[in-house]
Amino acid sequence: MAKSINKKNIAKSKILNNMMINGSTSKVELAKNLNLSMPTVLSNVNELMELGIIMEDGEYESTGGRKARSIAINKAYRYAVGVNITANHVGMVMINLAGDIVRQERKRFSFSTDIQYYSELKEMLQQFMEAGAEADRILGVGFSLPGIINGTERILIKSHALQLENYSLKMLEQTTGYPVCFENDANAAMLAENPKSIENAVYLSLNNTLGGAICVDGRLCTGQNQKAGEFGHIILVPNGKVCYCGKKGCADAYCAASALTENGTYTLEEFMARLGKDKKADVVWQDYLEMLAVLISNLRMAYDTDIILGGDVGGVLPAYHMKLGEMIFRYNLFDGDLSYLKYCTYTKEASAVGVAKHFFAEMIEEI
Ligand SMILES: [Zn+2]
Repeated sequence: MAKSINKKNIAKSKILNNMMINGSTSKVELAKNLNLSMPTVLSNVNELMELGIIMEDGEYESTGGRKARSIAINKAYRYAVGVNITANHVGMVMINLAGDIVRQERKRFSFSTDIQYYSELKEMLQQFMEAGAEADRILGVGFSLPGIINGTERILIKSHALQLENYSLKMLEQTTGYPVCFENDANAAMLAENPKSIENAVYLSLNNTLGGAICVDGRLCTGQNQKAGEFGHIILVPNGKVCYCGKKGCADAYCAASALTENGTYTLEEFMARLGKDKKADVVWQDYLEMLAVLISNLRMAYDTDIILGGDVGGVLPAYHMKLGEMIFRYNLFDGDLSYLKYCTYTKEASAVGVAKHFFAEMIEEI
């Protein structure tokens, strides 16, 4: 008996997972794609409908015959919150079950270990969440941080950006009355993507600092000491520009967004607006793309997977795909095309979205 209950729950999780990844579908499609019998699909879909997690959403275009009723996730069934902490900002998002951002806020708010920082953050979060959804519909609050994190022990092992080492995240945990989770910002940004597109991929997070993440066979590859994917501190130029980590010539000093904005003197939008009008900005942009091309071709050599460009700069790069590609071809003579070069889905607050999605994965597993 216990075994059959277990079996049924797995089917339910599979159904939900499939619908969250692929969107609207039909019972017939589910049975076919998940290799489940029609009676199993029918009973589980009915139960999920009774719970209100999925619902009918019109007619499904099937090939031939009469049209089937389509079913989809009830986006408003549950929400999750993601908070991205940086040295100078806090970004907050609330996402629905379909991963759509329903509420978003970004504030200039300098990180500090003072109690005042935490009490102000608590207030900010409370207001943000109250305005977004009813408390019992929110599954939890995820925090993404720039650094090496041990999420289980709630410890920030090291963060150059926040200048912390072996720092307890328990104070952060106490800013919310909800279940919490913690993730490195670049790992979180990668997890914001559709699981199908990151089965085997490398993610380059081009924000004010440069982060990276790696997925192999659908799982984050974090390394023996949670340090894998620190592409920002790969040396691109021996004895080159000084990096904030203390070394010289790191990729971060050339390819982070701060290389374009003179360390945040102005915004990326302001910089991009100068292109084509200001010769100095054009040169900076040309040099930036050149160094990014070197980094990308090195990563392609090392991993032979898709490379997803994310972060603030990842959001503007699709318009420069061919120009960047031309430069990559000069360094990489092994690939005949650029189909491995992809761009992020969430151009803003990807880390916050990714860390929030953790709660949906948890919900599906426990259903
Ligand atoms: Zn560095």
